[in-house]
Amino acid sequence: MLEKYAEVAGHDVVEHLRQLAEPLKGLRLVHINSTKSGGGVAEILYKMVPLMRELGIDAQWEIITGEPLFYECTKGFHNAIQGNPVNLTDSQLRSYEQTNRDYAQTGEAILRDADVVIIHDPQPAALISSFQERKGKWVWRCHIDASRPFRPIWRYLRDFVSQYDASVFSIAPFSQRLPHPVYLIAPSIDPLHEKNIDLPIEEIEGIYSRFDIDPERPMILQVSRFDRFKDPVGVIHTYRLVKRFIPHVQLVLAGGGASDDPEGEAVLQEVRTSASEDPDIHILLLPGDAHRTINVLQRASDIVLQKSLREGFGLTVTEAMWKNKPVIGGDTGGIRLQVVNHHTGFLANTPEGAALRTRYLLSNPEIMEEMGNKAKAFVRENFLVTRHLREYLTLVYALLNENQERIQLGG
Ligand code: UDP
Repeated sequence: MLEKYAEVAGHDVVEHLRQLAEPLKGLRLVHINSTKSGGGVAEILYKMVPLMRELGIDAQWEIITGEPLFYECTKGFHNAIQGNPVNLTDSQLRSYEQTNRDYAQTGEAILRDADVVIIHDPQPAALISSFQERKGKWVWRCHIDASRPFRPIWRYLRDFVSQYDASVFSIAPFSQRLPHPVYLIAPSIDPLHEKNIDLPIEEIEGIYSRFDIDPERPMILQVSRFDRFKDPVGVIHTYRLVKRFIPHVQLVLAGGGASDDPEGEAVLQEVRTSASEDPDIHILLLPGDAHRTINVLQRASDIVLQKSLREGFGLTVTEAMWKNKPVIGGDTGGIRLQVVNHHTGFLANTPEGAALRTRYLLSNPEIMEEMGNKAKAFVRENFLVTRHLREYLTLVYALLNENQERIQLGG
């Protein structure tokens, strides 16, 4: 599998991973989260764990599961960490602690002997209380935006988190002050995922007839859940401003089916109202596994917008940049980390700004191509799963050599 990554990420990158992993061969590393499928964490571990194993690390992936009360509680934690005021009952908190204690017993043999334990998100965070006498280093890996947590709940969770040897957040603004080393590791995309692999040109061209898009006219795309923070109505506004100057432009808004999400449904209605009957606005409701369709749309489009008003990281930005698209993104959160203004894309604060940049790129195809190439190179360098893996390996070094001034690798 690593060889396949060498082809896309570079042989030097994979060689570097092998060198870094060499002294870690046989190291027992356990990841724990609360689901094997669904959600970004599972998606990352699904690739990360086999890659670690291929590098000779004895990596395992374990799951904590519980009764409905446990999930009610951890969902509450999730919302509270992201800033919502949440009230949790004593019985919910007791269920959380008891589920963690029970799991500590089941997993005792694996966890007691592990050299490194990486606990993902709040669900298994309380496990640490059952391992006061532990052999390995324990890390809490937070995948969510903890920049402004709801204080009462954060105080409760912080008592567990503080017991870890280190914690990891995705980007600096999401992190919290803690009494141990705090590391930053950004998310990544998998270049070998169906959503990101190269596609035959016929498949890309097939999208036009499938969705009734005119191949001869410029196409603007935003791929997003129908969520106000993604500002789909702002995207329509942007498109209309562009259309005043470039009348043949078309817009595609691709998002998931919103039937199970009452707010999603409401936002979708707002989008439909705003689009009115404009035949050049295509609102596509895609099923959750339409990875290949998203890949095709991103490749077929001329301009990719991600006009979010707030954004965690914005994997859609990374995905589009990987396809040589300079993204015009909202000036917020993780988009700022990816879109280097005027180099790999443009940051915009208003529909007017986004429209100006869209017109500029559509009128300057050579610049668009140059920026698109830079965007791809930037993702290759910074946001592929291989970089993510390298940072996990480096984190392991840092944990195991905490008190050393210098770490000697190899030789
Ligand atoms: N996505 C999808 N179908 C959709 C909308 C989004 O598969 O209808 C994917 C998208 O390609 C990306 C992820 O879901 O991989 C969204 O991640 P991002 O970080 O952009 O935003 P989030 O939805 O997590 O806020």
